Amino acid sequence: MRKNNKQRSIVKSLLAWYKRHGRTFPWRGISNPYRILVSEIMLQQTQASRVLDKYPVFLKRFPSLRSLATATQRDVVIAWKGMGYNNRAVRLHRLARIVLSKYGGRIPADYDSLIALPGIGRYTANAILSSAFGQRCAIVDVNVQRVLSRMFWKLDSPREMRAAKEIWQLAERLLPRNNVYDWNQALMDFGATVCTSRKPDCNKCPVAQACTSKKFMSRTIVLKRKSEKKIDGIPNRLHRGNVVRHLRNLKSSRTIRADILGKRILRNFSQRNEKRFAALLLGLEKDGLIQLRGNGTLTSRRVSLA
Ligand code: SF4
Repeated sequence: MRKNNKQRSIVKSLLAWYKRHGRTFPWRGISNPYRILVSEIMLQQTQASRVLDKYPVFLKRFPSLRSLATATQRDVVIAWKGMGYNNRAVRLHRLARIVLSKYGGRIPADYDSLIALPGIGRYTANAILSSAFGQRCAIVDVNVQRVLSRMFWKLDSPREMRAAKEIWQLAERLLPRNNVYDWNQALMDFGATVCTSRKPDCNKCPVAQACTSKKFMSRTIVLKRKSEKKIDGIPNRLHRGNVVRHLRNLKSSRTIRADILGKRILRNFSQRNEKRFAALLLGLEKDGLIQLRGNGTLTSRRVSLA
C-alpha cells in the first residue's frame, strides 16, 4: 500500500531531524553482523548509555563469533558483568554455538533462520537484517510502538498504545524506498530523546504539526512502574544479578551451599524468604545460568555457575 501525504511528510521530517540530531554509537554505520548482533542483544533490556561502556569490553574479550562460541558459558557470563539480565549472555552463547556448527560461523541473512536462533525475536531479526545486510525491514520495539501510536492515532490515555500487530503493519508501510537504515535509527533516537514515554517534548518535535495526539500529550505523564516480584522489598531481578555476581567471584571450589548463598544475598533469611529464594534459584537454573546439585532443602544443595 502506498503512503499518504501525512505519512510521507512524517518520514521526510524525521529523516531530516535524524541528520542533525541522530546519536553516534560504535554499533552504528558498521556492517559486521557479529558486532551488530552483540549490540542488539545488549540493547534488548539495557539503555544505550550503559551498553556504551560494556560493548567494547565484551568485544575485546570475544572479538569474533568463533571466539564466543568456543568459550565456556562461565567465561561468557563473567564477561557479561555489569549488563544485568544474564540470561541474555547464556542465549547469546548458545546462538554463537549454533551459528558456528550449523552455518560455519556466518550469521544467516534470512529472517526464518534468524528467528529460529535463541534470543532472537521479530524486532532483533529485522534489526540485524536492516543494519548488517541492508535489507528493507521495519523494526518495532516498545519505543517505536509508542511513537507511532501517538503520531497516527488519537489516544485516550497517555499510557495507551495501539496493538503491536497494527503498528508493525504501519511501520512496514512507512519504510522509505531508500535510507531504511537511517529511518529505523531515526525512529529509535526520536523515541529515546523527544517522544519519550514520560515526558514527550512536543514543543521541540519536528512532526508536531502532523501528530494526532500532540494536544493530549503536552502535559507531563506520570507512569507507574510495573509491579515486580520482590523478596525483602528488593526486586527479584536484583537478587538474580547478585546471585550470579556472587558465584562469579567464588574462587576455590566454585560451588557454595544454597542456604549459605541465601544468607549472603538476603538480609532476612526467614523460613518464608527461604522458600522464595529456592524458587529464585530454580528460575536461574531453568534459564541455564546456574547449576543446582543435590535434592531436598537448601542445606543439602550446592550452587555454581552453569
Ligand atoms: S508532538 Fe509530542 S506526542 Fe506527538 S510525536 Fe511529537 S513529541 Fe510525540
